Parts: sequence; C-alpha cells; structure tokens
Amino acid sequence: MSLHELYSPVVLAHYRKPHNFGELEHADIDSKGTHKSCGDDVEVFMKLDGEVVQEVKFVGRGCALSQSSASMMTDRLRGKTLSEALELVREFNKMLNGEKEFPDSEDFRELAAFKGVHKYPVRSMCATLAWVTMENGVIEYKAQKNGADT
Ligand code: ZN
Repeated sequence: MSLHELYSPVVLAHYRKPHNFGELEHADIDSKGTHKSCGDDVEVFMKLDGEVVQEVKFVGRGCALSQSSASMMTDRLRGKTLSEALELVREFNKMLNGEKEFPDSEDFRELAAFKGVHKYPVRSMCATLAWVTMENGVIEYKAQKNGADT
C-alpha cells in the first residue's frame, strides 16, 4: 500500500464534508491537540449527561487523515459512556500501531479505512490525533471531577 492509497474514498468523503464540525458552547470537555510534524490541529468538545456523551463536535485544520479521523470519531461517541470512549481510543491506538486487526464491528467497520496507516508512524499520529485529544480531555475532566468530589 502506498501513501497515496491511505486516502481512500471514505477518508476523502469525511475530509471534504466533516461530520459534527463546529464549536460546542458550554461544553463539559474542551480539549485541544496538535500534531506538529504534519501541521494538524483539532479541538474536541463534549457535552455530558452524567457519564454519558450527549453531544460531541470538533473543529480543526490539517491533512485528510487527521480531519477525517476526527469526523469518524465524533460519529461514534454520542451515547457512549466516558469509560467506553476511553476503551475505543485504546483499541483504535492498537489498530493504528499494527498490534491488532480492525474488527468487523459497528464501531470499527468504517475506521478500517485507516488499516494501512500503521506502516507510516508519522501518519498514524495524524489518524490518532483527535482520539488522543479526546482521551486527554476525558482524563482531565475525570481528574477535576474527582478533585471536586473530595
Ligand atoms: Zn496529518
């Protein structure tokens, strides 16, 4: 698979028409991330109902891999708990590292568009940027919440 082939039709479709693109006011989680060696930026917003993701949006700029991956991620998070969201990130990271095959499950069928990316470590970081950014936001939110509870 060549680098060019990483830009599959699914990736390009999400890149050209990103889903859930825009800022979210009064978000419970607002997390920014950058991948400097490619020049990608994302900011992920999440509104929660207890532990459940009620609304999720993102803004960003950068290559097709980073932005399409952010778009696909936001499609999957609504209705998930924060723990489930973190689990998705862990699984996706493993697939992007080449440690695990993409399963034919509802969550990962479309994400299999990133199957060949693990051969290009710098580009893998494009594809995981939004996910890691979301993960950081969730971890920070949980830490703050636990701090406030005690
Ligand atoms: Zn990139």
